[in-house]
Amino acid sequence: MEQTNKNGREESTSVVIIGGGLTGLAAAAQLDMSGVPFVLLEKAPRVGGQIQTRHRKGYTYEVGPNTGSVSTPEVVELFDYAAPIARLEEANPTAERRWIWKGDRFHELPSGLMSGLKTPLFSWKDKLGIPLEPTRKKGTDPNETVGALAERRLGKSIVDYAVDPFIGGVYAGDPYQFITRFALPKLYRLEQDYGSFIGGSVRKAAEKKSERDKLATKKVFSAEGGLENLVQGVYRRAKEKGQFVLEAQDIQLTENPDKTWLVTYRNSDGQEHSITAKYVVTTVRGDQLVPMLPDALVDQASSLARFPYAPMIEVVVGFDSLPCVDRNAFGGLVPSREKRKVLGILFPSSCFKGRVPQKDGALFTLFMGGMRDRELFIGKSLDEIKAEGLEELYAMMDIPKEIEPSLVDAVAYSHAIPQYDTTYEQHLNTMTKIMEEHPTLVIAGGMRDGIGMAKRITQGMNVAKEIAQKL
Ligand SMILES: Cc1cc2nc3c(=O)[nH]c(=O)nc-3n(C[C@H](O)[C@H](O)[C@H](O)COP(=O)(O)OP(=O)(O)OC[C@H]3O[C@@H](n4cnc5c(N)ncnc54)[C@H](O)[C@@H]3O)c2cc1C
Repeated sequence: MEQTNKNGREESTSVVIIGGGLTGLAAAAQLDMSGVPFVLLEKAPRVGGQIQTRHRKGYTYEVGPNTGSVSTPEVVELFDYAAPIARLEEANPTAERRWIWKGDRFHELPSGLMSGLKTPLFSWKDKLGIPLEPTRKKGTDPNETVGALAERRLGKSIVDYAVDPFIGGVYAGDPYQFITRFALPKLYRLEQDYGSFIGGSVRKAAEKKSERDKLATKKVFSAEGGLENLVQGVYRRAKEKGQFVLEAQDIQLTENPDKTWLVTYRNSDGQEHSITAKYVVTTVRGDQLVPMLPDALVDQASSLARFPYAPMIEVVVGFDSLPCVDRNAFGGLVPSREKRKVLGILFPSSCFKGRVPQKDGALFTLFMGGMRDRELFIGKSLDEIKAEGLEELYAMMDIPKEIEPSLVDAVAYSHAIPQYDTTYEQHLNTMTKIMEEHPTLVIAGGMRDGIGMAKRITQGMNVAKEIAQKL
């Protein structure tokens, strides 16, 4: 790769990646492993995007994503690439216990027949109807929402006290807005391919798996010492051969007649640079993508600037010693009908090592806002929201008032989680059409292929593999 254009020479490379969050980093790692030169342009002074681990007062905590699921082999492969700086940490078995709020306390989500019968979370009608789930008719509406699908197959109380808190707490979304085949395609396929969630899960579990597929353990993961170590592990290795430009501003893309791309940007000193690339991979949000596209594409892509994202506030609270409070679980999720001010509370110190300064210390991560409580942001300061979160934490976890937290931190995201809602098909069609017409432009990131970290890693690596094969 020609390196500089300060002296008028133009740089060229095979791939320009725009955005150094997890998707961009995963793409960079895979390009490196495939021996493909790349330049990654990141607007911020650091890579990692939404992933941010903080170390304060002896606590190690996340203010972005906390945990993912090892749902694909790519998760393990990215950690292998990022070793030894990053080591995948599986949550301890405590993480299998999930709580759901109902009435005045958390109840454990049932995991077996007896606990399923005993749970106060679901109605008797729905509990007794579960064995009949495989006999229910297959849905015919391809745009059926997760809420409607689950209500049809499992019953309303199961939507209210399992599906709704899950979609609300994990995706900050509304189950009656999420389109199943886009938001939870595996669930959609279980019904379409096997006619049943239960029967389909059993048959899928029995299917023969390759050694590589077996890497996808479905376990809950973080990184030892926090997810920032995954970011740093990938970054430090990938930059040995690839080029990373931080604080890259005003990126503009121009398509050349030979279908390569001229990418211009300003560096941190305000100097203009340009790079010619055979492929461009964007990983930024829709509203960030549209302004960098060539004029000829702006009209076609303009609706992507309105791609919906849920707002979210993450409040982190640490106690040096909290022996009296039960937190022996992954965390607790809150159904929307319970009308609390939090979407869920995670207990990271119960699942991962070294997150608190003392053995009986406790760390809680509260999620607030989401599509359920979009108004939360309006007219309130972060400190006011933080105070509301603290009040909820004390009430819901039954923390004695006289015990003061040693750590309270909060971060607000106006565009936290992409929503694969009723507008999604139109957005997907727009992206697909642009990429068909401009095959050297790859629109990646959370607007396609799923929301969580595992999905981002998988997409980033797969996009890079496809490009490497074509080059
Ligand atoms: C509060 C919160 C909690 C979450 N919790 C979880 C969780 O527990 N589990 C889970 O699996 N997922 C979770 N997620 C989702 C997870 O964070 C994302 O799936 C993932 O980190 C997104 O990675 P990305 O690279 O696609 O996007 P981002 O991390 O947003 O990265 C995009 C990058 O592009 C850069 N950029 C933007 N505009 C430009 C521009 N014009 N030029 C150059 N660069 C630009 C940004 O600075 C950023 O670095 C959470 C998200 C949030 C916000």
